[in-house]
Amino acid sequence: MVQSSILGFPRMGRLRDLKKANEAYWADKLSRDELLAEGKRLRLEHWKIQKDAGVDIIPSNDFAFYDHVLDHIQMFNAIPERYSKQGLEPIDEYFAMGRGHQKNGVDVPSLEMVKWFDSNYHYVKPTLQDNQTFSLTSDPKPVREFLEAKEAGIVTRPVILGPVSFLALGKADRGQSVEPITLLEKLLPVYEQLLQKLKEAGAETVQIDEPVLVFDLPSKIKDAFKPAYEKLAGAGPKVVLATYFGDIVHNFDVVDAAFKNIHALHVDLVRHPEQLEQVISHLQPSQVLSAGVVDGRNIWKTNFKKAIELVETAVQKLGKDRVIVASSSSLLHTPHTLDSEKQLPEEVKDWFSFASQKVVEVAIIAKAVTEGPASVREQLEANAKSMQARASSPRTNDSKVKERQSKITAEMHRRQNPFTERYAQQKTHLSLPLFPTTTIGSFPQTKEIRIQRNKFTKGEITAEEYEKFIEKEIEDVVKIQDELNLDVYVHGEPERNDMVQYFGERMDGYVFTTHAWVQSYGSRCVRPPIIVGDISRPQPMTVKESKYAASISKKPMKGMLTGPITCLRWSFPRDDVHQSVQAQQLALALRDEVVDLEAAGIYVIQVDEPALREGLPLRAGKERENYLSWAVDSFKLSTAGVKDSTQIHSHFCYSEFQDFFHAIAALDADVLSIENSKSDAKLLKVFIDEAYPRHIGPGVYDIHSPRVPSEQEIKDRVEEMLQYLKPEQLWINPDCGLKTRQWKETKEALKNMVDAAIYFREKY
Ligand code: GLN
Ligand code: ZN
Repeated sequence: MVQSSILGFPRMGRLRDLKKANEAYWADKLSRDELLAEGKRLRLEHWKIQKDAGVDIIPSNDFAFYDHVLDHIQMFNAIPERYSKQGLEPIDEYFAMGRGHQKNGVDVPSLEMVKWFDSNYHYVKPTLQDNQTFSLTSDPKPVREFLEAKEAGIVTRPVILGPVSFLALGKADRGQSVEPITLLEKLLPVYEQLLQKLKEAGAETVQIDEPVLVFDLPSKIKDAFKPAYEKLAGAGPKVVLATYFGDIVHNFDVVDAAFKNIHALHVDLVRHPEQLEQVISHLQPSQVLSAGVVDGRNIWKTNFKKAIELVETAVQKLGKDRVIVASSSSLLHTPHTLDSEKQLPEEVKDWFSFASQKVVEVAIIAKAVTEGPASVREQLEANAKSMQARASSPRTNDSKVKERQSKITAEMHRRQNPFTERYAQQKTHLSLPLFPTTTIGSFPQTKEIRIQRNKFTKGEITAEEYEKFIEKEIEDVVKIQDELNLDVYVHGEPERNDMVQYFGERMDGYVFTTHAWVQSYGSRCVRPPIIVGDISRPQPMTVKESKYAASISKKPMKGMLTGPITCLRWSFPRDDVHQSVQAQQLALALRDEVVDLEAAGIYVIQVDEPALREGLPLRAGKERENYLSWAVDSFKLSTAGVKDSTQIHSHFCYSEFQDFFHAIAALDADVLSIENSKSDAKLLKVFIDEAYPRHIGPGVYDIHSPRVPSEQEIKDRVEEMLQYLKPEQLWINPDCGLKTRQWKETKEALKNMVDAAIYFREKY
């Protein structure tokens, strides 16, 4: 028969229970035992959801209190000494690595955390030493959790991250120079022991994730798979090797050489259905294919007809016993359950499937293929109806939007004149000094702001009262900027809960959930808005606040928008039209906003694109070039509708542009602000090397910490920047928005920043 399987289930629980438990534990409001018990309760609940849904192969060890890569770091004793020497309890040592520890005389910062492939989840980077050794903890978590499930009557398939990915995703510790993959030989015995123990505990199969197989791999990494899997294939339970988020076609040489003796291979057929035939042809005669046909990254109902066709194709070639129906990846990236959504329009709710619904889908597809469609006729019919309803709904299709898209011209992507001519006009129009100072948009989101917003959302105060409150906030920040003597002001974004949600709520084509949280890192969850249909802007979204702010300030006021790619990337996108189409619709809506801002007297407009880089496809080549081309176009479309004298800014929360510099340059933004205070100023070299003509504001201080930088520090930093940038090119600003800061440190830091700018202005 065709079995059904899930690669991982979200950890947070229905009501973000894990977040609450973790945070209560960190605040000393929950004991260690209570926290551990809550973890156990959640694991059991999640296994049971899958069992009740009829899933045949249920994962264990997919749970993590903070992050699953961090679990491995601890399990293999790859713990840097600065943590291990503190004598902390294991769970505290674990959290210390994940989020830092500052308590009872211990003060260690966290390990580095970075994005998990192209998702919005962040993992803790294995941080390795030149003389790194590994050993297995005495009570390894995968074994413990396998036994825990077994005791509850559920035989699971443990999930572990494979050794090649573990090392390839790691890095040398500060001051160390080890190349992680060279540690493979030392690491393998630990994996062998672990697999042995899992077998002893009764595990028949084990899922080993090697997601790095979707990357373009250097040969050192490629070559590591063969020795690794020659050892691991026979060391314990039968190995199901899992890849996801991309295709593995370019790494078939690895598959052929390294995976001869593994039991099964899992591939993501949601992202890359076209790899199916080729993958099948690379399987060994008895190997099983795990076909990932239920999307682990999005919230849409699976199209059963399409999924079943794909699985059937595999079954025809391999037979029913050699095919498993699976989620495309772990369901970690989807919200817990649709049942919690009480406010979604019924029409739209019928189109969605969250983790607890996806597990049912996987079981239904497996049954349809095993026993024939008649066995699940009702479900198939209901599914076809939902698909049909969604495809033809007026919510999905807006002919006006489509018509407007069909009329987009090349000119609409171009400013009237090149930068030099534009800047000449901007300079007089805005009367900007040398080394202009500005901030990135938000000012501290105080408790009072949150209270008032909450009251307004709950209907406890009227729209008018809320508006008055926001106006007062704007007045305050304008006054503060007067006192600080900044050059380009912002209105402070007090009215915005979130930089994407705020815009989504003001556009047609979006819906919002109340409980659809997904883990971003540790206990932090995000609740992305969902793009359900063609997007348009019924009316101006930010003009009122910006106009008011401009009316009371004596310096140029900067309008503040979130760019099309960031709106797209930080939402759940549609899966029925290409993302470039959605980005273009967002761009048109934002273009109208930009033009309206200009008409309202706002002559500096910043369009933030912090998500531009994370959208970059995982592999170099055509796909990446394509993305960059439509992403850049959508930014240009949104900003090019203004006069030359209006200045367009953009902002990115990172400073590594080396690999896509041409795209950044192609945005043609008059001013770019980037994060830079914690990186090497050398990264700015690319701007001279490439003769970048426009203006740049590399952040002069870190906004993630309450620490106030001295004027001297800022001067030193600017001095360094001036080695790479021309004085007339340089803007002086912080790294990013100030919403998470307190007022006290904000004012002090900005005062030092302005003083530093004045110093350079006099010097040049
Ligand atoms: N304008 C936004 C702010 O200042 C930018 C935030 C971001 O780049 N993440 O808050
Ligand atoms: Zn930023």
